[in-house]
Amino acid sequence: MSNFNRRQFLQAAGAATACAALPRAASANTYGRVVVVGGGFGGATVAKYLRLWGGDVQVTLVEPNPTHIACILSNLVLTSALSMSRITLGYSALQTNHGVSLMQGRAIAIDPPGKRLTVQTPTGQESLDYDHLVLAPGIDFAPAPGLWDPNLTPHAWQAGEQTTRLKNQIAAMRNGDRFVMTVPKSPYRCPPGPYERACVVADYLKAKRRTGAKVIVLDANPSIQAEPEAFGRAFSDTHRGVIQYFPNAQVQSIDSASRSIVTSAGTINNATVLNYIPNQKAGAIAALLGVNSTGFVPVNPLTYATAISTIHVIGDSCAVPASDGKAVPKSGHMANSEAKVCADAILRALNGEAADQNIATSSACYSPITARTASWLSANFIYGDIYDANGKVKGKGMHRLDIGEAPGQRVNNDSYQEMFTWADSLFADSFV
Ligand SMILES: Cc1cc2nc3c(=O)[nH]c(=O)nc-3n(C[C@H](O)[C@H](O)[C@H](O)COP(=O)(O)OP(=O)(O)OC[C@H]3O[C@@H](n4cnc5c(N)ncnc54)[C@H](O)[C@@H]3O)c2cc1C
Repeated sequence: MSNFNRRQFLQAAGAATACAALPRAASANTYGRVVVVGGGFGGATVAKYLRLWGGDVQVTLVEPNPTHIACILSNLVLTSALSMSRITLGYSALQTNHGVSLMQGRAIAIDPPGKRLTVQTPTGQESLDYDHLVLAPGIDFAPAPGLWDPNLTPHAWQAGEQTTRLKNQIAAMRNGDRFVMTVPKSPYRCPPGPYERACVVADYLKAKRRTGAKVIVLDANPSIQAEPEAFGRAFSDTHRGVIQYFPNAQVQSIDSASRSIVTSAGTINNATVLNYIPNQKAGAIAALLGVNSTGFVPVNPLTYATAISTIHVIGDSCAVPASDGKAVPKSGHMANSEAKVCADAILRALNGEAADQNIATSSACYSPITARTASWLSANFIYGDIYDANGKVKGKGMHRLDIGEAPGQRVNNDSYQEMFTWADSLFADSFV
């Protein structure tokens, strides 16, 4: 199907509408070119499922890195509980099992009328023509106030070299030292993630008998943003005397050289380790489509299409309309879920069919609290009416049905073990 242009495709799609009532996988003659930008949880999953469900659809995945290093479980790499190889995911199965084409490079420009993407590859610029373009570039960071050098004061909120830097700094901590970390303003990647990090670092310092060492959490938000019961108990009980939590601490300036930070809740000079996790926004290539007031790209949750119907944004970069106070979280599990909805919608569009309205998405996060115990959080969303803060319908979007928040007593070793089963099945569903 390599040289099939859009006009020929539409003619073929007319014939294909006869198959409209068949399940996706049965519509064998689906034709089209889909380019996917970003090989993380969103991008890898959409590439895989487009091929799995899409018959002859051509899929090219554009990603600058040779492997994806998952943020999921990366807090356990910080404490040496896991190795980096445990969270390193390759792309070869997408190629060999599913026939996804891989282009190593960074997408730098989009020509929507021409339906063409420009990619900077190691050997020069290349153009890719598409019928549909899916952007899954994850997060970028908002500019830091002050003098921030991530080599000196790492964020480790995109896993890889940053994780190793922070791990080495934590390993070098001694008695009485201070690990100071920030929690970005919501919405940000993985709502429980920062609190989980505070717990595993505190647990590590205790296990290494770093007497008097502290973990100081400076939260830009008014309260703990996920699992407040489990983390509240962890801070005030399990890790009492080690973790100090400060809400409403918005960062006003940072100086990496002196590891000093000024926040609306106070100033800390000369931290031993300063783990500055900045506020977040959509990845730059997705932000070209236009962002909302929080910095993410509004999408239609039935198709993940942006204002341009053939350009879709999934994963951490997108903003999904949701009931007030029940936002769709930015998680790898959710990116995987959105990717499947998006793949199905693209294949339907390629066949001239309308998007399915009967859709659901879900999210799950497991958070280690100690080296043997974990908490968990899950949430399920369905498409339909969404509500304002007064319970009045404010439009259509994703409404959260229920939330499984682990009460304190469910923070246990069973959850810790289940965490690996869950992660491995998400890794396999996205990358294998
Ligand atoms: C400490 C921590 C713990 C976490 N724990 C959990 C958890 O328990 N459960 C969970 O579900 N989620 C968890 N997450 C969140 C999860 O990692 C993210 O939500 C998820 O990775 C988002 O997927 P994505 O595809 O949007 O972005 P990513 O997975 O970040 O992938 C983005 C990809 O796009 C590529 N890219 C960027 N720009 C371009 C470009 N211009 N051209 C080409 N490629 C580009 C990048 O190289 C990257 O590979 C955690 C995150 C952190 C930081």
